[in-house]
Amino acid sequence: MNAVPRESASRDPLRFPQETAVVIGGGIVGVCCALYLQRSGHAVTLIDPEKPGNSTAKWSCGQMAVSQVIPLSKPGILMKIPGWLMDQKGPLALRPSALPGIIPWFFRFLMCARQSKIVDIAQSMATLTHEVYADYAPLLEACDDKALMGELPILEVFDSPNGLTHELPHLELRESLGFKSQRLNAKEIGDLEPAFAGKFAHGLMFPDWRAVSDTEGFIAALTDSFIAQGGRRIQSEARRIVESSGRASGVDLANGESVSAQHVVVAAGTGARRFFGALGVSVPLEGIAGYQAVVRNPGVEIRHSTIYADGGFCFTPMTRGLQIGGTIEFAGDGAKPNFGRADIILEKARRVLPELNTADVEYGVGYRPFLPDTKPIIDRSRRLGNVFMAFGHGQLGLTLGATTGRLIADMVAGRSSNQNLAPFSAYRF
Ligand SMILES: Cc1cc2nc3c(=O)[nH]c(=O)nc-3n(C[C@H](O)[C@H](O)[C@H](O)COP(=O)(O)OP(=O)(O)OC[C@H]3O[C@@H](n4cnc5c(N)ncnc54)[C@H](O)[C@@H]3O)c2cc1C
Repeated sequence: MNAVPRESASRDPLRFPQETAVVIGGGIVGVCCALYLQRSGHAVTLIDPEKPGNSTAKWSCGQMAVSQVIPLSKPGILMKIPGWLMDQKGPLALRPSALPGIIPWFFRFLMCARQSKIVDIAQSMATLTHEVYADYAPLLEACDDKALMGELPILEVFDSPNGLTHELPHLELRESLGFKSQRLNAKEIGDLEPAFAGKFAHGLMFPDWRAVSDTEGFIAALTDSFIAQGGRRIQSEARRIVESSGRASGVDLANGESVSAQHVVVAAGTGARRFFGALGVSVPLEGIAGYQAVVRNPGVEIRHSTIYADGGFCFTPMTRGLQIGGTIEFAGDGAKPNFGRADIILEKARRVLPELNTADVEYGVGYRPFLPDTKPIIDRSRRLGNVFMAFGHGQLGLTLGATTGRLIADMVAGRSSNQNLAPFSAYRF
């Protein structure tokens, strides 16, 4: 997808003394915040206990899902809950043990299933996703590898016309917000993706979506670029935001270091919860599990990242293998991953692609940082005015990383922007 890069907002370091910023969390959102703060003239330190790339998005489907603006909570969802509890093999499952802890979150989630709320959420989300490619462009341009984002659109395939019919109201809403989709028949699906020839008669193509071919390498490359441009990354956990005179003065780390900074950004995914006291927020943030199976030497070629709607998972060709996964599991805090769900995905994938060679498979799990209304938080703390929040990106963190980074850097610098950030306030709950 061609995008016009935004003009650099960088400042002349000779005229302005360099301000310092710490970003807590080096996942896709954190590294993009760090890069945009750097472009804005800050000396930035990025903190994360993990290696670059080893974060939730490693196990994502890698899609720039720009029109996936419809919230997860949809009309009729209440009636489906018994099914999710009974069928732990389904694309959407709720572990009975998670139920007591998740009830308050779920209640809010269900309240978002009204049509008027869905339209409202989709409109807000679209104001962010329309900016995705323009916001990624300068960051990717600065990376050594110029082909981190693929050129092909994304496909969605359905077992029967019912699935597609069910999607129609959402497609209309997406279209009204300026996103395109194209219906595909059996021949068109087979022409685009020969491995699916004769298997699906109903499909969609999203011409404005793209996919990355290495979700881990994508974040690692952005991190390398950040470091090459003078950024510092410390591989440790942030323990505490240090305060002085009603402001943050830095961050204490698990390795004993203390990093002082004029601005702090919390971009730690579900790990942001430990900072809620300091931030002065009470936010219903849940980690919602998704599973992946990376099939090395799959023996079948898939070119497009493809959503298999009835299976609730995606086939995504990655440099490390064919990644097959997705699904949604409400497992509850601290629950052990159930990799049996990845096996179920593989079993369903084999039904679609009987020639799939599953001799060499790696399993992974990611916890999407989800708020009940499916919208992220992009905001400033009212308790500590120099601390900023960038978390809760749910199913769209990879898509929204760069846009969030730009908006946070604008907020830190006090630059006005046309973006209405009220829908993404931490104080909306
Ligand atoms: C199965 C699955 C499929 C998905 N598919 C897509 C997709 O196709 N497209 C899309 O856009 N999104 C997708 N997502 C969602 C996407 O992966 C997430 O929204 C995204 O990873 C969130 O990014 P983040 O940087 O906010 O959080 P994370 O990726 O969770 O990163 C947070 C980072 O903070 C660090 N951290 C935590 N606590 C601390 C601390 N105290 N100190 C320092 N560091 C800390 C963690 O180590 C981690 O590296 C998918 C997710 C899953 C699970």
